[in-house]
Amino acid sequence: MAAEREQSGRRAEAEEAGSPWAFRIGTALGIPIRIHFTFLLLLVWFGVRSTRMGETFLSGVGFILLLFGCVLLHELGHAAMAKVYQVRTREIVLYPIGGVARLERMPSGKAELLIALAGPAVNLVLAGMLFAVMLVLQVRMPGSASELASGNSVLLQLLLVNASLFFFNLLPAFPMDGGRVLRATLTFFMSEERATAVAAGVGQGAAIVFGGLGLITGNFILVFIAFFVFLGAGQEAAFHRSRAAVQGLDARAAMITRFDALAPQDTLGKAAELLLTTHQHDFPVVDAWGRVAGLLHRGVLLEALARAGRETPVLEVMEREVAAVPPDAPLEEVLRLLQGRPSMPLLVVDGGRLAGMITLENLTELIEVSRRLRPVPPGAA
Ligand SMILES: [Zn+2]
Repeated sequence: MAAEREQSGRRAEAEEAGSPWAFRIGTALGIPIRIHFTFLLLLVWFGVRSTRMGETFLSGVGFILLLFGCVLLHELGHAAMAKVYQVRTREIVLYPIGGVARLERMPSGKAELLIALAGPAVNLVLAGMLFAVMLVLQVRMPGSASELASGNSVLLQLLLVNASLFFFNLLPAFPMDGGRVLRATLTFFMSEERATAVAAGVGQGAAIVFGGLGLITGNFILVFIAFFVFLGAGQEAAFHRSRAAVQGLDARAAMITRFDALAPQDTLGKAAELLLTTHQHDFPVVDAWGRVAGLLHRGVLLEALARAGRETPVLEVMEREVAAVPPDAPLEEVLRLLQGRPSMPLLVVDGGRLAGMITLENLTELIEVSRRLRPVPPGAA
C-alpha cells in the first residue's frame, strides 16, 4: 500500500528487532518479509466464510494468499525502485489492510515520484499479464454482475484485485502512493513545504470524503481506511515541518554536551549504576586519550548484565561501530541518520575527540523550540 518512512522513535524502537506482532516468513531482494499476526485471523475468517458459501476452507485461504502475493509484489516494486536510488528497505510487513515497505529514508523529487509509482506499476503489469493469460486460455468474460460475483474464475478475480490495487493506491491521499505522487509532482512547481502542505490538505479532504461515504453506506472498512489516511497525511506534514525547522542549522546546535562517558575498562556494574542515577540511556566509551572507542546501549547493557555479570568490562560488550558526525554536519543529515536508527544516539566527534551526543529525543526538542521561534511558512501550519 505505501512506501513508508519510519516516523516515530517510539514505534521504530520496537522495530530494531522487526515490527512487534509480526513474524518473518522469508526474504526477497535481501529484505525481510514479515506478516502481522492479525493477517492469520483474516485467513481463518476467509476460510470459514468460503465453507459457509459452499466452497472449501482451502479455496478461501488460497485466494487470500494469491491476493497477498500481489500486495507483496507491489511492495517489492517500491523496494526495487528504492534500491535504484540507494535507499535500503528495512522490511516489508503485510497487514490485513495492505502492505508496507519500510524504507530507511524517503528521498524527494523525482526519486520519490518513481518509488511511489513503482508499486502501482507492478499491479498494472500483473493485470495486463492476467488479461493476456485469460485471452490465451479463452476464459469467458462474465455477462452480468451476478455472474461476476459468483466468482467462477480465479484469474478474473485476480485481475480485478490488481486493477483495484492500481487505482486505489493512486488516490491522491497519504499514505496511499498517490499522495506521494502528488507531493513529488508539486515540488517541481513550488517549495517542498508548500507542496507537502497542499498534498496533506488534499489527503485529509479525501479522508473526510471516504469516511463520510463509509458511514453513509455502512462500509466500515472504508471508515477505517479514511482514519489511517487522515493520520498519515498529518504525520507526513509534521515530518516535513521538522525538516524545514532544522534547515541551516548544524550538529553543534543540537548536541548534548553534559553527559557521562565510560572508560573501556569500567565494569558493567558501574554502567548500571550510571543508568540508574542519570537520565542517560546510552553511554559513549572513551579511551585514556579521549578518543571514542564505542558505545554502550541500554539494551546491550541489560542483556549483558544478565548474561555475563556485573564484573565484566564494558570493552567486551560495547558496540564498536558507532555513528558519528563532525560538529558542522548539517542538522538535516543528522535528522535523517537518527530517523534511520531512532533508538541509537549519534556521537559528535571533533578531530577524533568526543564533543557531544545527539539523541532523537533532544533533536525533537530542538525542532519544537525552533518552530516556535521561526516564522512558519504560509500554509504549512
Ligand atoms: Zn504502494
